Amino acid sequence: MTKVFGHKSPDTDATCSALIWAWYLNEHTSMDATPRVLGALNTETQFVLAKWNTKVPELLETIAEGEDVVIVDTNNPQELPEGINDANIIQIIDHHKLVGGIETAGPVDITMRAVACTATILHDLIGEPVEDLPKDIAGLMLSCILSDTLGFRSPTTTPHDKDVAEALAEHLEIDIEDYANEMFAAKSDVSAFSEKGLLTLDSKKYDVGGKNFRVSVLETTTPQTILSRKNELVEAMTTLKEEESDVDEILLFVIDIFKEEATVFTPNALTKEVIEKSFGVAVESDTEVLPGIISRKKQILPSLKL
Ligand code: MN
Ligand code: MN
Repeated sequence: MTKVFGHKSPDTDATCSALIWAWYLNEHTSMDATPRVLGALNTETQFVLAKWNTKVPELLETIAEGEDVVIVDTNNPQELPEGINDANIIQIIDHHKLVGGIETAGPVDITMRAVACTATILHDLIGEPVEDLPKDIAGLMLSCILSDTLGFRSPTTTPHDKDVAEALAEHLEIDIEDYANEMFAAKSDVSAFSEKGLLTLDSKKYDVGGKNFRVSVLETTTPQTILSRKNELVEAMTTLKEEESDVDEILLFVIDIFKEEATVFTPNALTKEVIEKSFGVAVESDTEVLPGIISRKKQILPSLKL
């Protein structure tokens, strides 16, 4: 049984792409596959799975040596379980920058494309007209594209992602804007999360000038619900840094989906320095608003410098 999974801090694309690809491998190839997730799901992904009557994949705790795996939506060993390089990696399907570090025992089938979403690549690899896809699979695919593109707002969006999403929405007879707004409302309901939970909900570790940053984003239509917890969040940042020996500093970006801007927390000298150097701004308080910044992949990570 081949396990199909995406990255830690699973998002909608990592989770639903694992579901879509496991379905495809079972249905259209001789492989037996099963989807997995590497952590608790965010509220948007929970909403999406309920909407398309899909069960939450089982949690993957460990990988056995030589176990067959397919990786989707990442190529970064830091975002994968320990021992990933001892697994039998059959395939990697991804749309992130190539970071290196993955090693395989044998030849591996890799598909990486510069599109906004892994599910867009899956659509192309499946190669069937969207009308032939089961509705739940088409629904998951559409959800991935709307999530990763923030409803086509993100600069990562390509015309092809948009074309695929529009064809899927037509097949499903749903209005893209209405459905995207329902997804964002679900994502914005973070009342159940602790401050630490918010810091790790959508987070990637990233090296900047020899320092290890945890770069966390919270995409929301109601930024005030998060910003009003600022003091508690800053306290949790200090605690989390002490707990994680491989993290020097945490950058938290609260992304306002509708206003298309980010508010980044700058509670100390290092966070102020990195934000000033990276975005050419003079930081004067413990938060800084960055107009037009909404994509970690295309705008935040490539800008970070010390
Ligand atoms: Mn992802
Ligand atoms: Mn993705």
